[in-house]
Amino acid sequence: MLKKKNLIFLGAPGAGKGTFSAILKEQHPFAHISTGDILRAEIAKGTELGKQASAIMSRGELVPDEIVAGMVKARLAQPDCNSGFILDGFPRTINQADLLGQALTDAGRKLDAVIYFKVEDEMLLKRLTARISCKKCGKIYNKLFSPPKSEKACDDCDGELFQRADDSIETAKERLKVFYAQTQPLIEYYEKKGLLVAITETEKEKVHSALLKELC
Ligand code: AMP
Repeated sequence: MLKKKNLIFLGAPGAGKGTFSAILKEQHPFAHISTGDILRAEIAKGTELGKQASAIMSRGELVPDEIVAGMVKARLAQPDCNSGFILDGFPRTINQADLLGQALTDAGRKLDAVIYFKVEDEMLLKRLTARISCKKCGKIYNKLFSPPKSEKACDDCDGELFQRADDSIETAKERLKVFYAQTQPLIEYYEKKGLLVAITETEKEKVHSALLKELC
């Protein structure tokens, strides 16, 4: 049984936030709240928000704080978050963290831990540019480290595999820059609140055990 269930996953793009959200969901019924996934779904649906976000995302920049914070606030109010949630890729700025604090207070919820996945840039770029995911179920693979049986179809659901447009080397480098400029200050922000847990392992099994040790 996990003791810490209301979590933020913090880390640069490619640090493993999505991968470990999926792994932890096998052990506990977390609501997995990925702002990137929500925005990509808006783009796929062709909504006004999707159109606005699409250009920003393809440049590797951040969607305005109020928009993402509004999406997360609405999501946190849903009953499946009662059993615990993982915020994956949110907050990404100090302002978003402040807005989240307010939204959690309004929803009568509180954070148990902020997990920071610390990974070197070289490894991040390697992972990002080799990342492919399933269009149907969202499963993430890596052509180098965890390849699917066939590069075209998902092992689990046979869905089509694709590379995210923002995982090109140029955009990936820009996203890392944005991480260091705008998101890195959150490490100190949550350290001061006594919530930060840094995971420095990078091997899948070791990260998994470190996570369980921290959350149990
Ligand atoms: P991700 O899937 O988390 O890597 O996010 C992909 C892209 O979506 C980011 O590069 C941003 O353009 C946008 N995005 C996702 N989450 C946020 C956020 N919390 N704040 C602003 N933009 C975001």
